[in-house]
Amino acid sequence: ASIISAFIIIYELHKQIKAGRSNSGLTTLPPKSRGVESLIGNTPLIEIKSLSKITGCKIYGKLELCNPAGSAKDRVALAIIRANERLGKIKPNTGDVIFEGTSGSTGISFAVLANALGYEAHICLPDDTSPEKLQLLKALGATIHPVKPASIVDPQQYTNAAREGARKINDDPNDERRAIFADQFENDFNWRIHYNTTGPEIWRQTEGEVDVFINGSGTGGTIAGVSKYLHEQNSDIKVILADPQGSGLANRVNYGVMYDSVEREGTRRRHQVDTLVEGIGLNRLTWNFKQAEQQIDEAIRVTDRQALKMAKYLCINDGLFWGSSAAINCVAAVKTALKYGPGQKIVVIACDSGARHLSKFWKVASDIPNDITMNEILQE
Ligand code: PMP
Repeated sequence: ASIISAFIIIYELHKQIKAGRSNSGLTTLPPKSRGVESLIGNTPLIEIKSLSKITGCKIYGKLELCNPAGSAKDRVALAIIRANERLGKIKPNTGDVIFEGTSGSTGISFAVLANALGYEAHICLPDDTSPEKLQLLKALGATIHPVKPASIVDPQQYTNAAREGARKINDDPNDERRAIFADQFENDFNWRIHYNTTGPEIWRQTEGEVDVFINGSGTGGTIAGVSKYLHEQNSDIKVILADPQGSGLANRVNYGVMYDSVEREGTRRRHQVDTLVEGIGLNRLTWNFKQAEQQIDEAIRVTDRQALKMAKYLCINDGLFWGSSAAINCVAAVKTALKYGPGQKIVVIACDSGARHLSKFWKVASDIPNDITMNEILQE
């Protein structure tokens, strides 16, 4: 009997590996290029048991934090690099330069992939970014170009600095290197890689039984790509945007107006509210978010207090030490589960780990009592 069960296990493993490889597109690389980049994608899906139990639904987390550079952005960074190689704009192992404006995860993905593939990563980074992200970028050998602090009020300045950095290298006749501006917010390859990989993975991992998909939007690439793919499989799947305080996207989705927009009735206004949450929330429409808009049924606004409490709740009750955007998604998941009733299958993205947020979000979340209850999370 044990020989038969060993055979069955090997057969099942073989089936899973085959299914994963053939669908991902990121891992179908020639054997000689199977370096760290071959570990990107095919991330696990786990059940968030405490949330399932309390709601009577099945709530799952897609562990994008299991990508080798620690977030969903590995997929996007690799897709942008490969696309630019195909277009002949950069060449591996030449020290060609990748510029990106980012407050974190994408820069870390580019820094790791630049090392793996023989490029230089230049990151234009707002100088209020969490010290651990800055330290990590330095450790990874990326060149950092500090720009003024950019809250979600005005992120344009770091993308502008990155565009300019790439242009300078390309315009310099004495510089043999080629440079690209990765431009994750406006880049079409961003949502497409989630359409080609993250979406199919979720569909496969839930065996087509997913009722609701929930995610925040930074560039909008993840929610756009995943929801487009899922809707092609089943147009009844609900897509919900989880949005932090201070972001205008929720009102854009629910009411068609960006109430929190800096451009309101022709006048520029600063927000009264900013957020501790990093990576999501915006007050301008990006190309990638535009790809998502028609797919989103509803937006749920989540306060920082709710997200902080949820992060602690997941950590204590499930052993899941997650970043701020994952916590926001989970608050939205519980609200959705309570609204639609038991039996729903809900998938959220866990974009990165709490370790990326120790000095900012988790500095506050750490002080939340271990016995925090779901009622206390939702009442805020
Ligand atoms: N969570 C975190 C921690 C992020 O860094 C990002 C990307 N900025 C997101 C969520 C949102 O992903 P996307 O850019 O695909 O909307």
